[in-house]
This record gives sequence, C-alpha cells and structure tokens, in this order.
Amino acid sequence: MMESTLKRTWAEIDLDALACNYEILCGRMGPSSRFLGVVKADAYGHGAVQVSRTLEELGAAYLAVSSIDEAREIRSAGIRLPILQLGLTPAEQAGQLLAHRIAQAVWSEESALSFSREAERLGGRIKVHIKLDTGMSRLGFLCGEEQFSCSLEAICRVCAMPGLEPEGIFTHFAVSDEVGEGSRAYTLSQHRQFEAMLRALEARGVGFSFRHCANSGAVVGYPQFGHDLFRPGIITYGAGHQAQELGLRPVMALKSVVGAIRTLPADMSISYGCTFRTERPSRVGVLPIGYADGLHRTLSNRWRVWTPHGFAPILGRICMDMCMVDLTDLPQIREGSEVEIYGPHNSVTEAAQLAGTIAYEMTCAVSRRVPRVYLRGGREVARELMLRG
Ligand SMILES: *Cc1c(COP(=O)(O)O)cnc(C)c1O
Repeated sequence: MMESTLKRTWAEIDLDALACNYEILCGRMGPSSRFLGVVKADAYGHGAVQVSRTLEELGAAYLAVSSIDEAREIRSAGIRLPILQLGLTPAEQAGQLLAHRIAQAVWSEESALSFSREAERLGGRIKVHIKLDTGMSRLGFLCGEEQFSCSLEAICRVCAMPGLEPEGIFTHFAVSDEVGEGSRAYTLSQHRQFEAMLRALEARGVGFSFRHCANSGAVVGYPQFGHDLFRPGIITYGAGHQAQELGLRPVMALKSVVGAIRTLPADMSISYGCTFRTERPSRVGVLPIGYADGLHRTLSNRWRVWTPHGFAPILGRICMDMCMVDLTDLPQIREGSEVEIYGPHNSVTEAAQLAGTIAYEMTCAVSRRVPRVYLRGGREVARELMLRG
C-alpha cells in the first residue's frame, strides 16, 4: 500500500530519539515526579499510537489527549496506560469516558455536576482531574485572591460528587517558556496560586494522587515544579526553542525527493505570482511536497531544504503539492536524491520562526497524505499511512 507513496514525501519518526529525550527529561525532573506524555493532536503530528506505545514501554505513568476520539484511538491500539482527556467533553459523551477508562479534566462545578449525573445514571464513577486557572484564563477554577474561597468550596463539592472519583489536580502556565523578569514573576505567581489551593484543599481533607503543572517551558525553566507528574509536549519531540538547551534530539525528519530537475535560462519567473526571477541559468529541482503536505506557504522564498552537499533554497511560491529549489550550486544532487525539509539538519524551530509561527504548528501540520516511517536503531520498524484504501 505504501510502497507507491514512500518515494514522494514522508516523515521519519526516530523512536530512539524519543527514548533519549524521555530519559533526559526524567533525569531532569528526578525520581519523585513521573512522566505524563502529551500525545494530543496525533502526538504533535508524530503519530499518537506509535509514540504512546513507545512511552508505555519506556515506563511513562500517564498520557494526555485533547478529545475522546484521540483517547479511543490509543485504547484501540491496546495501550493500557491511564489517559487524561485535557479538552472539553460534552456531558452526553461521559459514557465513553467510562467505557474506555479515560480520566476527564473538570473545569467548573457545572461541568462536574453533569459528568457526575451521567456517571451515576450509567452506574459508574468517572476519574477526574480538577483544572485550576491560575492565570492562563482558558478553563478552570479561578485561584486569585477574590475567587479563592469560592473556588475552594466549589472544588470540595465537586470532590464529594457521587459519580466522580477525584484523582488529580493541575494547572497550566501561560509564559513558562519565556525569559525575562515579567514572565518569570508571572509563572512564579501562577505556581504560588496552585500551591496555595493545594494546601487549602489538604487542610479540608481533600488530597489527590496526581498533582501536576509542568509543561515543556516549566520542565526547562522550573524543574522544581515537578510535583507528582510532569507534562511535557513539544520538548518530548525535540522541537521548540528550548529543546536544544537540554540537548534533546528532533524526533521527526520530514523528507522528500528531487522528483525532476530542469535547466532554466536566466530571467525566468518561477511559480505562482512570479515572485522569484532567475538571475543566472539555473538547475531547478521540483519537489513533490507542498502546503497540502504541511509545508507552510509562508515559507515561500524563505526556507531551504537540506542535502548532504549543502542547502538548496526554495524558489518562488510553495504550491499545494510541489515546490521548486535551487540546485545550481549542488551538481551532486540528482533526480531521486533525498532532501530534508526539516529534522536533525534543518531546524523546524527556525522554519517556524521564519514562517511567523511556532514549531508546534509545523509538526502538527504534516498532513494525512504524508506516511510516517518509524525507526529504531536506524531500521524501519513500522509504517503508517492515514489515507484510507
Ligand atoms: C498541550 C498541553 C501541554 C503540553 O504543552 P507543551 O508546551 O507542548 O509542553 C501540557 N498541558 C496542557 C494542559 C496542555 O494543553
């Protein structure tokens, strides 16, 4: 099935790099904090099933997703680790939480009550993690001075609801990955609010098995915030501006091949919009990758592909399914030669900066059409294509 597509564009997922990153992160956080792998959005584009299976083998404690369907995909693959659904779940789907043993984040007393009622109706109890809003202002119980006691009472009531099994409590940081005094003060204040609520709940006799707050930014900048679990996403995949600081390895290499090479005279316009004009007779490579594969169109005339003999700049606009690169100074490159769009030699984080976005958006954007090839010890161990048929 996939033979036909492999020599087009594919993403290599290096499971050894994932294992190496896992060990580095666990070492950094110490033995009392365990790893919760964030595998939402198909593991940031790397493939949730293979990544989850690898994390399970490595000894991770928990996984997190952002929809019931994502959790079900992982369960259908036979992965037994506990799964936390961080995102919004409609109360009508509470039955699925029970059926697939998924823990749910609860963000308000009303949401908790509807989950509890549905669980009671079905004769079960849903595991929940209480979400605290300490400054992200997305979802959760507010923890500022004015709302503190009101939230404390509400959380106590939630934890006593008959259809719920309170297992965890967590918060999420807004600027833990940013340097600067202001961001540092903001993050420390978020953490103080988190701890204040934990203490107040403890004083009321309400405790949790899993307290957690550390996203990637906190793992890098605030390793003292480990608590029971830490929750890194992007740095697990060796991407983002902080990955290098810890010596993490990029897990994904997005690759393509030179599909055709053409010789063009000077003064030719290339691609839609005629935004690039050859200044000299040029050897132009046509690559079977475009924005429909996840190569952002805003990288037109900005990015370059890596080859073992040097970089080849992208010429003109990136099309839906193809783009053109300059091979004039790379005579060694032939039709069929492999190129790296991003990966260990060509930083996705740098591409993201040039595109005006973040590495997360680039890896998540690698589309269904791109087969994932999983490597261990440099050898292919699995291959997945998400297209049907
Ligand atoms: C996505 C997410 C994470 C992981 O964030 P990174 O910045 O990728 O480390 C952690 N916690 C929550 C609640 C999230 O939504």
